[in-house]
Amino acid sequence: MKRICVFCGSSPGAKQDYLNAAALLGSLLARKGISLVYGGGSVGVMGHLAKACLNAGGDVIGIIPRRLKESGVAFSGLDKLYVVETMRERKAMMTEVSDGFIALPGGLGTIEEFIEVLTLAQLGMHTKPCGLLNVCGFFDKMIDFLNYATQQRFIDNIHFNMMLIDETPEGMLKKFEDYQAPQADKIAWVVKMSEGID
Ligand code: AMP
Repeated sequence: MKRICVFCGSSPGAKQDYLNAAALLGSLLARKGISLVYGGGSVGVMGHLAKACLNAGGDVIGIIPRRLKESGVAFSGLDKLYVVETMRERKAMMTEVSDGFIALPGGLGTIEEFIEVLTLAQLGMHTKPCGLLNVCGFFDKMIDFLNYATQQRFIDNIHFNMMLIDETPEGMLKKFEDYQAPQADKIAWVVKMSEGID
């Protein structure tokens, strides 16, 4: 695994634990020689993550839309800061260059980015691992909801189980190493969820 993309809040959130987990993940990636791909920001959880990875001697690749960069939130001093025109272009590039995706606590941007890469995995458009780093149970309610949607047969069990969940960066990277994507015929959107409607 050469590059991992991390989605996370541009806000710091309400708990120091979120920032600590970001710093731990950043330094762990550096130690393992895995490049960090992220949104290129200097603020919130994102900023902590990038700073920790750089301080530990890691390789950090930021991908940021021009508008955001011009508003002054880009991480200054990043050697590898790719400036793109649109959010869509940014997500496409992140998806293309990364070997896996991790979401740390964050807001709408984080949730949207994570659900998109999971949806692409469901469609068989990539076979890369997607993990929720569930720091202090931050994602519990989202996981519960997705589980409910699975029980209600809107999400196939196979697709729900593609979502790797762990509370620690070490545990998550171990799951990434062991991850085997389901066989193509199991992940295609043709999997039938509508059989046996109550
Ligand atoms: P949010 O979770 O709503 O704070 O959004 C965070 C996600 O959206 C990150 O993973 C970034 O890709 C993107 N993003 C939002 N705000 C910024 C910012 N100020 N600088 C860079 N990327 C950002």
